Amino acid sequence: MERRSFIAAAGGAALAAVAGAAGFTRWQEISATVNYPGRDEGHYLRDHRALPPPSSVIDTDIVIAGSGIAGLAAAWQLNRDGHRGALMIDGPQAFGNAAGGHFGELEYPTGGHYLPLPSPESTHVREILFDLGILLKDPYAEKPTYDERFILHGPEERLLYQGTWQDGFLPTHGVPAAELAQHKRFFAEVERLRALRGSDGRRIFVFPTVLSSFDSAFDGLDRITLKQWLDQKGYTAPTLHWYLNYCCRDDYGTRYDKVSAWAGLHYYCSRWGQAANAGNGAWLTWPGGMAPVAKAMAEKSAIARRAGTVVSLRNTAGGVEALCFDLKDGVPSTYLVRARKAICAMPMFVAARVVEDIASLGFDAKAHMPTYAPWMVANFLMKDFPEEIPEAPLCWDNVVYQEPGLGYVVSTHQDIRQTPPSNTVFSAYVALSDRTPEQARKWMMTATPSALIELASADLKTAYGWKFAPCVERVDITLRGHAMAAPLPGFRSNAGAAALRDVDGPITFAHADLSGFSVFEEAAWWGCAAAKKAIRLR
Ligand SMILES: Cc1cc2nc3c(=O)[nH]c(=O)nc-3n(C[C@H](O)[C@H](O)[C@H](O)COP(=O)(O)OP(=O)(O)OC[C@H]3O[C@@H](n4cnc5c(N)ncnc54)[C@H](O)[C@@H]3O)c2cc1C
Repeated sequence: MERRSFIAAAGGAALAAVAGAAGFTRWQEISATVNYPGRDEGHYLRDHRALPPPSSVIDTDIVIAGSGIAGLAAAWQLNRDGHRGALMIDGPQAFGNAAGGHFGELEYPTGGHYLPLPSPESTHVREILFDLGILLKDPYAEKPTYDERFILHGPEERLLYQGTWQDGFLPTHGVPAAELAQHKRFFAEVERLRALRGSDGRRIFVFPTVLSSFDSAFDGLDRITLKQWLDQKGYTAPTLHWYLNYCCRDDYGTRYDKVSAWAGLHYYCSRWGQAANAGNGAWLTWPGGMAPVAKAMAEKSAIARRAGTVVSLRNTAGGVEALCFDLKDGVPSTYLVRARKAICAMPMFVAARVVEDIASLGFDAKAHMPTYAPWMVANFLMKDFPEEIPEAPLCWDNVVYQEPGLGYVVSTHQDIRQTPPSNTVFSAYVALSDRTPEQARKWMMTATPSALIELASADLKTAYGWKFAPCVERVDITLRGHAMAAPLPGFRSNAGAAALRDVDGPITFAHADLSGFSVFEEAAWWGCAAAKKAIRLR
């Protein structure tokens, strides 16, 4: 990405201490809505709670269980290949981690918020984006043309480091020369790995990961953590360690001393798509994050959708049968779906409870279940923009050199170029990677709204001090206890995930979990693949 260079003292932070009490009083008045997508439905499944008998039976050809990017990509692929008449069961949250919300006309993400320009190997993503009108020209060219409204424009990102804002996320200003030399060495290594090919001729790190090289010479990278890899390579610079830890927390919701070195490096070495009208590695983004893309995929696929959560999915003599329930004001009703084929597009930890005898398909829940990272996304409706220093303007993504926060994204960033809005939404991301997933889930369930706001606003308060709270009108907090599979060492050789990837019977699987880590490209890949299998078996 092309970047301007700036450095400027932060305005609010220095004043925070003097006016802390005023800020605290103000927080008591801010109302928060707190959402736990899937929590209530999940507890029904976990506790095997009693459900009433089905009130209706629906017959369809293919049922897609789950409406995240994987389910939507399956629906899109079915439609593209001429299949009509499939049914999607949304699951507890329509669009899953690609969902969003809105304060009036202001949209915001409650999960994913950007998409890197797809690599040449990600033809499935390019085809989807072309069909949606996001990619305008030459989907198979080295450098396709994208709709400029969605290409992230500057200023893109800044970091608050030692009281000053600086461009980019890797601290450079005030950093000793020896550390800067290590930064340079690391990025030279990334360049080398990006170009490297295995003995099978494939690049080592590619999206989709199934197209990466399977040369065993690189298996060792999935036996150690990213931190161990850095230590082995002699990288000692604290700023580089902080930066790569930040990246792992941001991408995988998990610290770099837990994430597989293969996954940590994959992020850098694989996401380097090009465009005719944007810099290398540019990002696509929308005010509502990935939600507008998910909505467009649902519309384009013309899939029939129904609210509900699948409680059991089983093979029958004629195909498959899915028992579904829907909670309205806490009261469940059920219906039965009979189909020739099912595409199970729900996370693995749910599929393990829902799919009858999943062990016979090669997935042993005890041995193969990934660790899930919990996430919190807090959307602050801002009635005013907090004061910024002219030399360090508000960026799309604004990060503070601390943990566990991941900074905040400005939802109206892409609009600013056309009509400067009077108000906006700041989306604060927190991966609760400073504690174990179990501790984080427990905390999520018991924390008061003010404790949630306290953690969600930590980076914003560091950035703006007392000036932040008076600008806030409302907060919408989304808590995902099992947000995404964490790619810990060994994830590449998870035999259970591999078995589900290969299943080709009446039930097939589609979810980012099949890759062991959660990004759009992987989710979409498995959705498209499952749809192709479902059609082939007709
Ligand atoms: C906070 C956050 C930020 C992220 N940011 C990005 C980003 O910027 N870019 C990016 O590429 N990726 C991002 N991701 C990763 C994101 O998860 C993937 O991009 C992608 O959206 C995953 O899609 P999926 O379909 O695999 O899974 P999910 O999004 O998990 O979808 C699963 C679906 O299954 C449904 N379901 C669950 N249980 C049942 C059931 N019993 N019956 C029927 N349906 C069920 C759910 O309702 C949901 O619709 C982010 C994730 C999180 C949590």
